[in-house]
Amino acid sequence: MSRWIIVSNRLPFSYDKATNGLKTSSGGLVTAIRGIKTKKEVLWIGSIPNNVPKKLVRQYRDKDNIKFSFPDLDNELYDNYYNGFCNDVLWPILHYESDSVKFSIDRWEDYKKVNQIFAKHVAKVAKKDDIIWLHDYQLFLVPKLLKEINPELKVGFFLHVPFPSSEIWKQLPVREEILEAVIHADLVGFHDFAYLRHFVSSVYNLLGIHSSLLEIKSPYNNTKLGIYPVSIDTQDFIKKASSKKTLKAIEHYGLNESNRKYILGVDRLDYSKGILYKLEAYQKFLRDNPKYVGKVQLIQIAVPSRTDVPEYIKLRHDVERLVSEINGEFSQIDYIPVKYIFNSVPVHDLMALYRACDILLVTSKRDGMNLVCLEYIAAQAPKSPGVVMLSEFAGAASTLSHATLINPMNIQDTSLKLKDSLELKQAERQRRHGIMYDYLKQYTATSWAAAFINHLENKTLQKGSRLKDIQHPKELDKVKDLFKDEKRVLLLDYDGTLTPIVNNPKDALLRPKMKSLIKKLQSDKNTEVVIITGRDSNFICKQFDGVECYLACEHGAKFYDYKKKKWRNLVSSNKKDWFPQAGQIIKEYTRRTPGSFFEKKNYAIAWHYRNSPQDFGEFQARKLVVDLESGLSHFPVSVILGKKVVEVKSIEANKGYFTQWFISRYAQDGEKIFAIGDDKTDEDMFDALDRKAVTLKVGTPENTKANHFIEKQSNVSNLLKELFL
Ligand code: UDP
Repeated sequence: MSRWIIVSNRLPFSYDKATNGLKTSSGGLVTAIRGIKTKKEVLWIGSIPNNVPKKLVRQYRDKDNIKFSFPDLDNELYDNYYNGFCNDVLWPILHYESDSVKFSIDRWEDYKKVNQIFAKHVAKVAKKDDIIWLHDYQLFLVPKLLKEINPELKVGFFLHVPFPSSEIWKQLPVREEILEAVIHADLVGFHDFAYLRHFVSSVYNLLGIHSSLLEIKSPYNNTKLGIYPVSIDTQDFIKKASSKKTLKAIEHYGLNESNRKYILGVDRLDYSKGILYKLEAYQKFLRDNPKYVGKVQLIQIAVPSRTDVPEYIKLRHDVERLVSEINGEFSQIDYIPVKYIFNSVPVHDLMALYRACDILLVTSKRDGMNLVCLEYIAAQAPKSPGVVMLSEFAGAASTLSHATLINPMNIQDTSLKLKDSLELKQAERQRRHGIMYDYLKQYTATSWAAAFINHLENKTLQKGSRLKDIQHPKELDKVKDLFKDEKRVLLLDYDGTLTPIVNNPKDALLRPKMKSLIKKLQSDKNTEVVIITGRDSNFICKQFDGVECYLACEHGAKFYDYKKKKWRNLVSSNKKDWFPQAGQIIKEYTRRTPGSFFEKKNYAIAWHYRNSPQDFGEFQARKLVVDLESGLSHFPVSVILGKKVVEVKSIEANKGYFTQWFISRYAQDGEKIFAIGDDKTDEDMFDALDRKAVTLKVGTPENTKANHFIEKQSNVSNLLKELFL
């Protein structure tokens, strides 16, 4: 039987020295996963703190018979990964606090290492039909790493926190690497539609991959997308909140006193929770409504979080200063307006607070979901329920249709709504609570998990069409073997392949190292090198001076046969018909677009806009394509939008036509073909070759007909050496 393998950063317990046993830890993710009920075998993989005896974990059986497993992680490495990257970089950026991001390359390397360790551990324990469910931002890279080890595994990824607007995500130095890794998963889930939308637009803006809101089709996978707002084990909360122990606690703490109303706050002491806004609104409420002084109390549980980090220490001071200020201003001999507890509280005390308090006030600046408000609704007595005041910026705001929504930054409005909520009639409170209570009885943590897992199980794995990373050791060996001791033709593009793309095309000179490599390749009697480029022959001749190889310039319009020492024109049509007209249109665009310039070749005119303002340049380029296509529609020309260049050229000047022509005349039977290029024009070359050829795109692996990719141009020369020398 297939198992569910749940993977999260931490296993859900800590070590209790006093009892030499394991103690369940708290937190949204743990509550949600523990709330799942299933007949399936569940294995939970996560790290454990170093003080937890490993033997205890191996022997530990959860109430639902979940088994646990953990990778071995060095303490220092874990600390760098967790505090140095997850908490110092990912947490703030995902919560829109980009000013608090402390990015360092070393910590990023540690993050990659730990993700690798997780991936290896999961791949080792996973069996064929197991479903792998990865949780949260600590494991962003694991989908890709796992699929690289075993593409047959079904991998789902769920994000428990918000995904920010692409304008924020863009600020992260490693933004592309993370997105690319996540979209290797078969299914990616979010709490809220807004997070999904932001994710899709980041994938589009940063990786250039268009997708619907249901699926991202990339060369790595067809990744399904979904919204699965997390829930809780509702019955468990209902039971606990109405238990004798809880009712006793309510009495014991005097929470049932009829002459006082209670407002409850339960938050980790984290900047994302907006506790200061809550206190400010409450202070304003007391100032504006003196009749409530002595009759209302805010009970704020502030669960300690990252207590050794300066920002959190400062936040604690700020919160406690404001608590003191409010208490100083409004306390009476028998009354304190804010009861502040900097600690977590035992479960039955928490249930007593949930059950007895009249208002739950959630003022998060950003909150992936916020489980506290769901738990509060489940715990309240349906006959006389309280009111949930919920920040619009919490994921739960989308599902709790009858909460009182607030913008926590609007202190005045929150204060007014506090008064309205305190005075809301019982019938209306019942009506609102009833709707949300029924929803939570139907939609539990189990429903949440089942929806996600069902979608993942039903997803058919994409096979065959995956674009291969040529630098992957297995793939590299395969390609090496294919060419070993064989006669071969190497079709090499110039710009962006043999040289990096630079601001001025004139500066893209062939570096001596690359030149001598090509000489070496060509000196092998089994190898023929063909430089196949959009450049004109003057430029290319200068670069390859002294190199004996074939040169195909202007997309194959001009061809140099080094054996015969002869140039040939392969274009038969007369360019005089269209050249002046094209020149005029392009000149006009050059005038209007700052930083742009054009280049006249024998059979083509190229308009470059790499130095233009980015958005304006892109816009002008698209318009120019339309103008050229319509203005020259009667002529045998083609218009191409390449990498920061628009090129109009004779239709016969095409790398695809040239490739066919060259192969049919120059290649011998059985000769192995290798083609490499980075641009749109190289796609014609890839397309012209049969599937046996190794075709290699330089750059991100998308929108290509090549069967392999290599991400960085700077790795091309090493690759050529590795494969052919
Ligand atoms: N919680 C707890 N003990 C406490 C206070 C809170 O166990 O003293 C639990 C609470 O029941 C909830 C979780 O901590 O399940 C907080 O989850 P939430 O999604 O609201 O916030 P997170 O801390 O995950 O950001």
